[in-house]
Amino acid sequence: MSKNFDCIILGGGPAGLSSALYALRSGLKTAIVDVDAIGGAPINYCEIENYLGFSKIQGFELCEKFENHVDEFEVEKFPYEEIQNVDLISPTKKITTLNHEFSAKTVIIATGAKSKKLNVKGEIENIGRGVSYCAVCDGAFYKDKVVAVVGGGNSALEEALYLTKFTKKVYLIHRRDSFRADKIVQNRVFENKKIELVLNSNVVEILANEKVNKILIENIENKKISTLEIDGIFPYIGLEPNVELFCAQLKQDKNGFIITNELMETNIKGVYAIGDVRNTPLRQVITAVSDGAIASVEAAKYLMNLENTAIRK
Ligand code: NAP
Repeated sequence: MSKNFDCIILGGGPAGLSSALYALRSGLKTAIVDVDAIGGAPINYCEIENYLGFSKIQGFELCEKFENHVDEFEVEKFPYEEIQNVDLISPTKKITTLNHEFSAKTVIIATGAKSKKLNVKGEIENIGRGVSYCAVCDGAFYKDKVVAVVGGGNSALEEALYLTKFTKKVYLIHRRDSFRADKIVQNRVFENKKIELVLNSNVVEILANEKVNKILIENIENKKISTLEIDGIFPYIGLEPNVELFCAQLKQDKNGFIITNELMETNIKGVYAIGDVRNTPLRQVITAVSDGAIASVEAAKYLMNLENTAIRK
Protein backbone atom coordinates (compact mmCIF):
# COMPACT_ATOMS: atom_id res chain seq x y z
CA MET A 1 0.00 0.00 0.00
CA SER A 2 1.38 3.44 -0.93
CA LYS A 3 1.78 6.05 1.81
CA ASN A 4 2.84 9.64 1.31
CA PHE A 5 4.53 11.81 3.96
CA ASP A 6 6.41 15.11 4.23
CA CYS A 7 9.21 13.43 6.13
CA ILE A 8 10.19 9.78 6.55
CA ILE A 9 12.57 8.95 9.37
CA LEU A 10 14.44 5.69 8.96
CA GLY A 11 15.26 4.44 12.46
CA GLY A 12 13.40 4.86 15.74
CA GLY A 13 16.28 5.29 18.18
CA PRO A 14 16.98 8.51 20.14
CA ALA A 15 18.09 10.37 16.99
CA GLY A 16 15.02 9.28 15.02
CA LEU A 17 12.59 9.99 17.85
CA SER A 18 14.06 13.43 18.45
CA SER A 19 13.83 14.28 14.75
CA ALA A 20 10.23 13.01 14.75
CA LEU A 21 9.36 15.34 17.63
CA TYR A 22 10.82 18.37 15.85
CA ALA A 23 9.28 17.40 12.47
CA LEU A 24 5.84 16.95 14.03
CA ARG A 25 6.08 20.24 15.89
CA SER A 26 6.95 21.89 12.54
CA GLY A 27 3.68 20.53 11.19
CA LEU A 28 5.22 17.88 8.94
CA LYS A 29 3.32 14.68 8.21
CA THR A 30 5.87 12.28 9.62
CA ALA A 31 6.52 8.55 9.65
CA ILE A 32 9.12 6.53 11.54
CA VAL A 33 10.11 3.29 9.83
CA ASP A 34 12.35 0.80 11.63
CA VAL A 35 13.46 -2.74 10.85
CA ASP A 36 13.30 -3.40 14.59
CA ALA A 37 11.42 -2.15 17.64
CA ILE A 38 11.12 1.59 18.27
CA GLY A 39 13.70 2.68 20.86
CA GLY A 40 17.03 1.89 19.20
CA ALA A 41 20.30 0.63 20.61
CA PRO A 42 20.00 2.20 24.11
CA ILE A 43 17.19 -0.25 24.90
CA ASN A 44 20.05 -2.70 25.50
CA TYR A 45 22.32 -0.36 27.46
CA CYS A 46 22.64 -1.09 31.17
CA GLU A 47 22.56 2.35 32.74
CA ILE A 48 22.95 5.76 31.18
CA GLU A 49 24.67 8.26 33.47
CA ASN A 50 25.50 11.11 31.12
CA TYR A 51 22.13 12.19 29.71
CA LEU A 52 21.55 15.63 31.12
CA GLY A 53 18.81 15.75 33.74
CA PHE A 54 19.03 12.06 34.66
CA SER A 55 21.93 11.15 36.93
CA LYS A 56 21.18 7.46 36.33
CA ILE A 57 18.50 5.92 34.11
CA GLN A 58 18.05 2.52 32.45
CA GLY A 59 18.46 2.70 28.66
CA PHE A 60 15.02 1.23 27.95
CA GLU A 61 13.37 3.68 30.39
CA LEU A 62 14.88 6.72 28.67
CA CYS A 63 13.83 5.40 25.24
CA GLU A 64 10.32 4.79 26.54
CA LYS A 65 10.16 8.42 27.71
CA PHE A 66 11.33 9.59 24.27
CA GLU A 67 8.69 7.49 22.50
CA ASN A 68 5.89 8.57 24.86
CA HIS A 69 6.77 12.20 24.18
CA VAL A 70 6.61 11.68 20.40
CA ASP A 71 3.32 9.79 20.79
CA GLU A 72 1.72 13.03 22.04
CA PHE A 73 1.71 14.04 18.36
CA GLU A 74 0.21 12.39 15.29
CA VAL A 75 3.17 10.29 14.29
CA GLU A 76 2.82 7.15 12.19
CA LYS A 77 5.17 4.42 13.41
CA PHE A 78 6.12 1.37 11.38
CA PRO A 79 8.31 -0.93 13.50
CA TYR A 80 9.58 -4.31 12.25
CA GLU A 81 9.35 -3.19 8.61
CA GLU A 82 11.73 -5.08 6.40
CA ILE A 83 13.11 -2.40 4.07
CA GLN A 84 13.77 -3.77 0.60
CA ASN A 85 14.64 -0.77 -1.51
CA VAL A 86 15.47 2.88 -0.99
CA ASP A 87 15.47 5.52 -3.74
CA LEU A 88 16.91 8.73 -2.34
CA ILE A 89 18.00 10.27 -5.64
CA SER A 90 14.57 11.16 -7.11
CA PRO A 91 12.97 14.45 -5.92
CA THR A 92 10.23 12.32 -4.35
CA LYS A 93 12.09 9.71 -2.34
CA LYS A 94 10.72 6.16 -2.16
CA ILE A 95 11.17 3.56 0.57
CA THR A 96 9.85 0.12 -0.29
CA THR A 97 9.26 -2.40 2.48
CA LEU A 98 7.67 -5.83 2.46
CA ASN A 99 4.27 -4.30 3.31
CA HIS A 100 4.31 -0.71 2.07
CA GLU A 101 5.67 1.81 -0.37
CA PHE A 102 6.48 5.08 1.39
CA SER A 103 7.17 8.34 -0.42
CA ALA A 104 8.31 11.75 0.85
CA LYS A 105 10.21 14.82 -0.26
CA THR A 106 12.55 14.48 2.76
CA VAL A 107 14.19 11.46 4.36
CA ILE A 108 16.11 11.48 7.63
CA ILE A 109 18.44 8.51 8.08
CA ALA A 110 18.84 7.44 11.70
CA THR A 111 19.65 3.77 11.23
CA GLY A 112 22.44 3.72 13.83
CA ALA A 113 25.33 1.31 13.98
CA LYS A 114 26.00 -2.28 14.94
CA SER A 115 28.78 -4.04 16.88
CA LYS A 116 31.97 -4.72 14.97
CA LYS A 117 33.06 -8.35 14.88
CA LEU A 118 36.44 -9.61 16.06
CA ASN A 119 36.68 -11.68 12.86
CA VAL A 120 38.42 -14.60 14.56
CA LYS A 121 37.85 -18.33 14.23
CA GLY A 122 35.01 -19.52 16.47
CA GLU A 123 33.25 -16.14 16.74
CA ILE A 124 30.32 -16.33 14.31
CA GLU A 125 29.87 -20.09 14.83
CA ASN A 126 29.34 -19.56 18.56
CA ILE A 127 26.99 -16.59 18.62
CA GLY A 128 24.32 -17.59 21.13
CA ARG A 129 26.58 -20.34 22.51
CA GLY A 130 28.92 -18.14 24.51
CA VAL A 131 29.59 -15.26 22.11
CA SER A 132 27.35 -12.27 22.80
CA TYR A 133 27.31 -8.61 21.83
CA CYS A 134 24.74 -7.65 24.48
CA ALA A 135 25.61 -7.89 28.18
CA VAL A 136 22.19 -6.58 29.20
CA CYS A 137 20.42 -9.31 27.19
CA ASP A 138 22.67 -12.22 28.16
CA GLY A 139 24.54 -11.25 31.35
CA ALA A 140 22.16 -13.09 33.67
CA PHE A 141 23.04 -16.40 31.97
CA TYR A 142 26.54 -16.11 33.41
CA LYS A 143 25.78 -16.23 37.13
CA ASP A 144 28.98 -17.24 38.99
CA LYS A 145 30.74 -17.91 35.65
CA VAL A 146 33.87 -16.46 34.09
CA VAL A 147 33.55 -14.20 31.06
CA ALA A 148 35.80 -12.09 28.85
CA VAL A 149 35.01 -8.62 27.54
CA VAL A 150 37.09 -7.30 24.64
CA GLY A 151 37.76 -3.61 23.97
CA GLY A 152 38.96 -0.43 25.60
CA GLY A 153 36.14 2.05 24.95
CA ASN A 154 33.15 3.13 27.02
CA SER A 155 31.08 0.14 25.91
CA ALA A 156 33.64 -2.49 26.91
CA LEU A 157 34.37 -0.95 30.30
CA GLU A 158 30.75 -0.17 31.19
CA GLU A 159 29.55 -3.61 30.16
CA ALA A 160 32.46 -5.30 32.00
CA LEU A 161 31.32 -3.49 35.15
CA TYR A 162 27.72 -4.51 34.51
CA LEU A 163 28.72 -8.17 34.09
CA THR A 164 30.42 -8.22 37.50
CA LYS A 165 26.89 -8.11 38.99
CA PHE A 166 26.40 -11.71 37.91
CA THR A 167 29.76 -13.30 37.22
CA LYS A 168 32.57 -14.65 39.35
CA LYS A 169 35.21 -12.99 37.20
CA VAL A 170 35.55 -10.76 34.14
CA TYR A 171 38.71 -10.67 32.03
CA LEU A 172 38.91 -7.31 30.28
CA ILE A 173 41.07 -7.86 27.22
CA HIS A 174 42.44 -4.85 25.40
CA ARG A 175 44.97 -4.52 22.59
CA ARG A 176 46.82 -1.60 24.20
CA ASP A 177 47.90 -0.70 27.75
CA SER A 178 45.62 2.33 28.07
CA PHE A 179 41.90 2.78 27.60
CA ARG A 180 39.90 5.34 25.67
CA ALA A 181 36.83 5.09 27.94
CA ASP A 182 35.89 8.05 30.17
CA LYS A 183 38.24 8.38 33.18
CA ILE A 184 35.37 7.99 35.67
CA VAL A 185 34.51 4.60 34.16
CA GLN A 186 38.18 3.55 34.03
CA ASN A 187 38.57 4.28 37.74
CA ARG A 188 35.55 2.11 38.55
CA VAL A 189 37.06 -0.72 36.54
CA PHE A 190 40.45 -0.41 38.28
CA GLU A 191 38.74 -0.55 41.67
CA ASN A 192 36.58 -3.58 40.85
CA LYS A 193 38.15 -6.73 42.31
CA LYS A 194 36.22 -9.01 39.93
CA ILE A 195 37.82 -7.49 36.83
CA GLU A 196 41.24 -8.73 35.72
CA LEU A 197 42.94 -6.69 33.01
CA VAL A 198 44.61 -8.52 30.12
CA LEU A 199 46.44 -5.76 28.28
CA ASN A 200 48.44 -5.57 25.06
CA SER A 201 46.58 -8.64 23.92
CA ASN A 202 44.34 -9.77 21.08
CA VAL A 203 41.88 -12.62 21.03
CA VAL A 204 42.98 -14.89 18.18
CA GLU A 205 40.56 -17.80 18.50
CA ILE A 206 37.42 -18.78 20.38
CA LEU A 207 37.13 -22.47 21.23
CA ALA A 208 34.00 -24.35 22.12
CA ASN A 209 32.80 -27.76 23.13
CA GLU A 210 29.08 -27.29 22.49
CA LYS A 211 29.50 -23.95 24.31
CA VAL A 212 32.46 -21.57 24.45
CA ASN A 213 35.03 -22.83 26.98
CA LYS A 214 38.37 -21.24 26.03
CA ILE A 215 39.93 -18.39 24.13
CA LEU A 216 43.42 -18.04 22.74
CA ILE A 217 45.11 -14.71 23.44
CA GLU A 218 48.17 -13.34 21.71
CA ASN A 219 50.39 -10.89 23.54
CA ILE A 220 51.19 -8.24 20.93
CA GLU A 221 54.67 -7.54 22.35
CA ASN A 222 56.19 -11.02 22.64
CA LYS A 223 53.68 -12.84 20.36
CA LYS A 224 53.18 -15.49 23.06
CA ILE A 225 49.86 -17.33 22.84
CA SER A 226 48.08 -18.17 26.09
CA THR A 227 44.77 -19.82 26.91
CA LEU A 228 42.01 -18.40 29.10
CA GLU A 229 39.25 -20.66 30.34
CA ILE A 230 35.97 -18.79 30.09
CA ASP A 231 32.25 -19.44 29.77
CA GLY A 232 31.39 -16.49 27.57
CA ILE A 233 32.90 -13.66 25.58
CA PHE A 234 31.49 -10.19 24.89
CA PRO A 235 33.31 -8.27 22.13
CA TYR A 236 32.80 -4.51 22.43
CA ILE A 237 35.30 -3.26 19.89
CA GLY A 238 33.36 -0.42 18.30
CA LEU A 239 30.63 0.15 15.79
CA GLU A 240 29.99 -0.04 12.07
CA PRO A 241 27.17 1.95 10.46
CA ASN A 242 23.93 0.40 9.21
CA VAL A 243 24.22 1.75 5.69
CA GLU A 244 23.83 -1.32 3.47
CA LEU A 245 20.63 0.10 1.96
CA PHE A 246 22.15 3.45 0.97
CA CYS A 247 25.75 2.58 0.08
CA ALA A 248 25.47 3.36 -3.61
CA GLN A 249 23.66 6.68 -3.08
CA LEU A 250 25.31 8.53 -0.20
CA LYS A 251 28.86 9.74 0.39
CA GLN A 252 30.54 7.90 3.26
CA ASP A 253 33.85 8.23 5.11
CA LYS A 254 36.52 5.52 5.07
CA ASN A 255 34.73 3.63 7.86
CA GLY A 256 31.37 3.76 6.08
CA PHE A 257 29.73 6.48 8.20
CA ILE A 258 27.54 8.88 6.17
CA ILE A 259 29.17 12.25 5.59
CA THR A 260 27.05 15.27 6.58
CA ASN A 261 27.65 18.94 7.14
CA GLU A 262 26.73 20.68 10.42
CA LEU A 263 23.11 20.93 9.21
CA MET A 264 22.97 17.11 8.90
CA GLU A 265 22.65 17.45 5.12
CA THR A 266 24.06 14.61 3.04
CA ASN A 267 25.22 14.88 -0.58
CA ILE A 268 21.57 14.49 -1.73
CA LYS A 269 19.12 17.38 -1.34
CA GLY A 270 16.31 16.57 1.08
CA VAL A 271 18.24 13.67 2.66
CA TYR A 272 19.74 14.04 6.14
CA ALA A 273 21.72 11.65 8.36
CA ILE A 274 21.78 11.80 12.15
CA GLY A 275 23.12 9.96 15.19
CA ASP A 276 25.52 7.02 15.15
CA VAL A 277 25.19 6.40 11.39
CA ARG A 278 26.85 9.71 10.46
CA ASN A 279 30.48 10.79 10.71
CA THR A 280 29.99 12.43 14.09
CA PRO A 281 32.86 13.18 16.48
CA LEU A 282 30.84 11.86 19.45
CA ARG A 283 28.37 8.95 19.63
CA GLN A 284 26.16 9.59 22.65
CA VAL A 285 22.41 9.75 23.22
CA ILE A 286 22.68 13.48 23.84
CA THR A 287 24.46 14.15 20.53
CA ALA A 288 22.02 11.87 18.66
CA VAL A 289 18.98 13.82 19.90
CA SER A 290 20.69 17.08 19.05
CA ASP A 291 21.36 15.86 15.49
CA GLY A 292 17.68 14.91 15.21
CA ALA A 293 16.50 18.40 16.13
CA ILE A 294 18.83 20.07 13.62
CA ALA A 295 17.86 17.72 10.76
CA SER A 296 14.12 18.21 11.16
CA VAL A 297 14.33 21.99 11.37
CA GLU A 298 16.40 21.90 8.16
CA ALA A 299 13.94 19.48 6.51
CA ALA A 300 11.05 21.82 7.34
CA LYS A 301 12.94 24.79 5.82
CA TYR A 302 13.76 22.73 2.72
CA LEU A 303 10.08 21.81 2.22
CA MET A 304 9.03 25.44 2.71
CA ASN A 305 11.52 26.53 0.02
CA LEU A 306 10.19 23.88 -2.38
CA GLU A 307 6.64 25.12 -1.77
CA ASN A 308 7.61 28.78 -2.28
CA THR A 309 9.43 27.92 -5.51
CA ALA A 310 6.38 26.00 -6.77
CA ILE A 311 4.08 28.97 -5.99
CA ARG A 312 6.38 31.42 -7.84
CA LYS A 313 6.39 29.22 -10.98
P1 NAP B 1 35.04 2.74 20.64
O1 NAP B 1 34.98 3.90 21.55
O2 NAP B 1 35.28 2.95 19.19
O3 NAP B 1 36.16 1.75 21.23
C1 NAP B 1 36.43 0.55 20.58
C2 NAP B 1 37.52 -0.15 21.37
O4 NAP B 1 37.77 -1.42 20.79
C3 NAP B 1 38.83 0.62 21.35
O5 NAP B 1 39.44 0.58 22.63
C4 NAP B 1 39.66 -0.12 20.32
O6 NAP B 1 41.03 -0.15 20.63
C5 NAP B 1 39.13 -1.53 20.43
N1 NAP B 1 39.18 -2.23 19.13
C6 NAP B 1 38.77 -1.79 17.93
N2 NAP B 1 38.93 -2.73 16.99
C7 NAP B 1 39.49 -3.79 17.62
C8 NAP B 1 39.89 -5.09 17.19
N3 NAP B 1 39.76 -5.48 15.91
N4 NAP B 1 40.40 -5.93 18.12
C9 NAP B 1 40.53 -5.54 19.40
N5 NAP B 1 40.15 -4.34 19.88
C10 NAP B 1 39.64 -3.48 18.99
O7 NAP B 1 33.71 1.84 20.69
P2 NAP B 1 32.58 1.67 21.81
O8 NAP B 1 33.18 1.53 23.15
O9 NAP B 1 31.69 0.59 21.29
O10 NAP B 1 31.81 3.02 21.74
C11 NAP B 1 31.22 3.46 20.51
C12 NAP B 1 30.77 4.90 20.68
O11 NAP B 1 29.68 4.95 21.60
C13 NAP B 1 31.86 5.78 21.27
O12 NAP B 1 31.75 7.04 20.67
C14 NAP B 1 31.54 5.83 22.74
O13 NAP B 1 32.02 6.97 23.40
C15 NAP B 1 30.02 5.78 22.71
N6 NAP B 1 29.52 5.22 23.97
C16 NAP B 1 29.24 6.06 24.96
C17 NAP B 1 28.78 5.60 26.19
C18 NAP B 1 28.47 6.57 27.27
O14 NAP B 1 28.70 7.75 27.08
N7 NAP B 1 27.95 6.15 28.40
C19 NAP B 1 28.60 4.24 26.38
C20 NAP B 1 28.92 3.38 25.35
C21 NAP B 1 29.39 3.88 24.14
P3 NAP B 1 41.93 1.18 20.53
O15 NAP B 1 41.57 2.00 21.73
O16 NAP B 1 43.31 0.63 20.57
O17 NAP B 1 41.57 1.81 19.23
